[in-house]
Amino acid sequence: MAKYTGPVCRLCRREGEKLFLKGERCLTDKCAFEKRKYPPGIHGPTARRKLSIYGIQLREKQKAKRIYGILESQFKRYFDMARKMSGNTGENLLSLLERRLDNVIYHLGFAASRKAARQLVAHGHVIVNGKKVDIPSYLVSEGDVISIREKSRENVFIKENFEKKNVDDLPSWLSVNKETWEGKVLRIPVREDVSHPIKESLIIELYSK
Ligand code: SF4
Repeated sequence: MAKYTGPVCRLCRREGEKLFLKGERCLTDKCAFEKRKYPPGIHGPTARRKLSIYGIQLREKQKAKRIYGILESQFKRYFDMARKMSGNTGENLLSLLERRLDNVIYHLGFAASRKAARQLVAHGHVIVNGKKVDIPSYLVSEGDVISIREKSRENVFIKENFEKKNVDDLPSWLSVNKETWEGKVLRIPVREDVSHPIKESLIIELYSK
C-alpha cells in the first residue's frame, strides 16, 4: 500500500491544528506547529484561510485521514462500511477508525504514535487472542485480548513506551494489565470515546455529494 513519506509536522501545519502524530515530541516545545502556526510553503506565513464549504469539508476529511494515517481509498472503504451499518454513519465511521489494531496498540501504550504502532503490527510483534496478527487495519471486536509477543517485550522502544503508559489515560472501552502485558477490548468504541475534535458530519456531507 502506498503511504505518505513526507515531513509529518507539515500535515499539522496544513490542517491548522496539532494532530499529535509524533508521540511525546508533540507535547514538548519542539513541536513544529507551536513554532510555526501557519500553513507550509513559501506563502504560508501570509496565507489566508478563507475556505469554501467544500474546502471546509475536504479539510475535515483530510484531518481524520491524517490522524489515523490512512489513505483515500481505504478511508472511502470505511465510509462505505459505515453507511451499510445501522445507526449514524458519521459515528459508525469514527468507531471503525478507532477499532483499527494500530490505533488500539497506540492507545494501550505499546507505541508512541499510531505510525509506530502500525510498524509494530506490520513487523509481527502483535498477538490477538493468542495468534499473531500483522494487519494494521484489523478491526478489533469486543472481548479481544491484545498483547505483544513474548520475545518482543525486550525491545527497548516497546518496553520504554509501555512502562511510561499511564493506565488512567486509557479510553474507557479498553483495559490493560501491565503485569501480563495484555490489553482487552471491553466494548465497541462509540462517538464519545474519540478524543480528537473531528467533525464527522462534514465528512459525511462531502461523501454524500
Ligand atoms: Fe504535529 Fe506532533 Fe509535529 Fe507538533 S510535533 S507539528 S503535534 S506531529
